[in-house]
Amino acid sequence: MKNHTDVLIFQLRVCAEASQILLIAEQNLKFCSRPQRKTLRNGGKMTNEELILEAKKARKHAYTPYSHFQVGAALVTKSGKIYHGCNIENAAYTPTNCAERTAFFRAVYEGEREFTKIAVVGGPEGSDADELCAPCGVCRQVMMEFCDPETFQIILADGRGRCLQRTLKEMLPFGFGPENLESH
Ligand SMILES: [Zn+2]
Repeated sequence: MKNHTDVLIFQLRVCAEASQILLIAEQNLKFCSRPQRKTLRNGGKMTNEELILEAKKARKHAYTPYSHFQVGAALVTKSGKIYHGCNIENAAYTPTNCAERTAFFRAVYEGEREFTKIAVVGGPEGSDADELCAPCGVCRQVMMEFCDPETFQIILADGRGRCLQRTLKEMLPFGFGPENLESH
């Protein structure tokens, strides 16, 4: 290891939940130590760092008696509201719901249909989330239903101050969404 950057790249390993995005991320790892202040379109103000803290809070609610892998998400609506989500497992396994979809479904139930960004933090129970954790394919597809893939931002963060920000289109290239059905 030549320097600190090499160490960090080495530490950025494949996330158990979705490996491919982390592989393309190695060249673009960046720190969130300086707040990225963004004003949401309709007045809400929250930095990425603040949103990541909300995702960490949500992670504490995870129900994971089987995998013991806990994930939290914080979703921002265009109107500036924040919806939290955690993963919720099930003894039958397949009914398990991811943190990202929990946040989306809560928001949609309350009438929200437009979103700007989501922060996701995940890792083994009892850990401080040592690795970045990317949304699974199912969650990316749910995002595709409600979000503009060109502008919706997905922010991955770990417990060591590292984060990665990508658009939905970058996370789900050639995605299939509502627009694909409009001409039929
Ligand atoms: Zn998922």
